[in-house]
Amino acid sequence: MLAYDKEHILHPYAPSIPSMDMQFVKSASGVYLELEDGRKIIDGMSSWWSVIHGYNVPELNAAASEQLSKMSHVMFGGLTHEPAIKLAKTLLEITDESLEHIFFSDSGSVSVEVALKMAYQYWNSQGNKQKNKILAFSKGYHGDTFGAMSVCDPVTGMHSAFEGILHKNIFADAPSPAFNDEWDEKHIEDFKSKLEHYHTEIAAVILEPIVQGAGGMRIYSPSLLTSVRTLCDKYDILLILDEVATGFGRTGKLFAYEHAEVTPDILCVGKALTGGYLSMAATLTSKKVMQGVEANGNVLMHGPTFMANPLACAIANASLELLLKSPWQERVEGIESQLKNELQKCEELDIVKEIRVLGAIGVIELNADVDLAWMTEKFIAHGIWVRPFLNLVYIMPPYIISKEELSTLTGALYEVVKEFGAI
Ligand SMILES: *Cc1c(COP(=O)(O)O)cnc(C)c1O
Repeated sequence: MLAYDKEHILHPYAPSIPSMDMQFVKSASGVYLELEDGRKIIDGMSSWWSVIHGYNVPELNAAASEQLSKMSHVMFGGLTHEPAIKLAKTLLEITDESLEHIFFSDSGSVSVEVALKMAYQYWNSQGNKQKNKILAFSKGYHGDTFGAMSVCDPVTGMHSAFEGILHKNIFADAPSPAFNDEWDEKHIEDFKSKLEHYHTEIAAVILEPIVQGAGGMRIYSPSLLTSVRTLCDKYDILLILDEVATGFGRTGKLFAYEHAEVTPDILCVGKALTGGYLSMAATLTSKKVMQGVEANGNVLMHGPTFMANPLACAIANASLELLLKSPWQERVEGIESQLKNELQKCEELDIVKEIRVLGAIGVIELNADVDLAWMTEKFIAHGIWVRPFLNLVYIMPPYIISKEELSTLTGALYEVVKEFGAI
């Protein structure tokens, strides 16, 4: 099977004939992935932010089987169903009260495409055809589809591979200062001047609140977010917050924008929405935005085949119920303080540039890019699954990870990073 995989199956951002061997996962339970040879390794990645309750969760399995026996899928054009209505209600309840409409889609990237369409159509439908650009931030990541790529970091965000094809947007300096650093107006200057200069062309601002994920694992001050909101209001520009990675408790708040007490005009959620069981995302917005979109008889032009898939909605409902009745905040705070304690000693290593921790996210920034194949092998030998990129070794474990398991994870990180620094 591995030979077949190697010959035919493409993996994320990887050559068709991969330079490194894939790990074969037989099953997964709790925080553990079971490999082909029976070894069990701790998943430090929550399968890219999504598996917040761990794997093979009885409550989610039950919700899936129950929904399967009713209907796995039904089209959403002209039809509706309880799982979607229930999920809409919950999501609109737990997010800002100004958000009153929700659009379900199949992935985070598509939720961003929908957000961008909402922003463009908001102005277009009202007769303003000039506003066809988005102001985004350097080091941002918003997904892999064309609209989403056009607002990803212009240097590391795949723009060079699609030169001349991507829509040209405007970029402000990466958000700063760091989470706990003192605020100074100089941190908003570049953003402010871009807004002043281009506001007649800008439909919306997009950013990942507080934590920039795949564009650099950067954690920034809530004051920046507050200032961005204030300036968007001043220039009457929509604010899209992309919480696809940060949503559902990961940063210590249910949604990261709560660190700054700001209100988005459009909000994207995904990744952890179904607890990592199925691909699903949503774009939430206000009455004001929908009224703008629908001015002069227009409607939002999007409608995926698997929109509001009942199976995914039912699992999302069970996942949110499980999350909201769990002591998730305590758990995430516990992970945060343990990460702070246990990753701190990495700072003594010369290879380490900086340690960053917020909520259940721990980042070790190195002074050099990692050798992915070498490091992956070492991590597995230490019993953990961690997938670094460039010079970033980072973890965001399932919230249910035990103290001992987390110590195994951080201990192994230290040992492997230390060994990497020595070669
Ligand atoms: C992962 C991610 C996306 C894209 O989600 P997919 O489900 O991979 O399409 C968009 N925005 C952010 C912030 C993400 O982390």
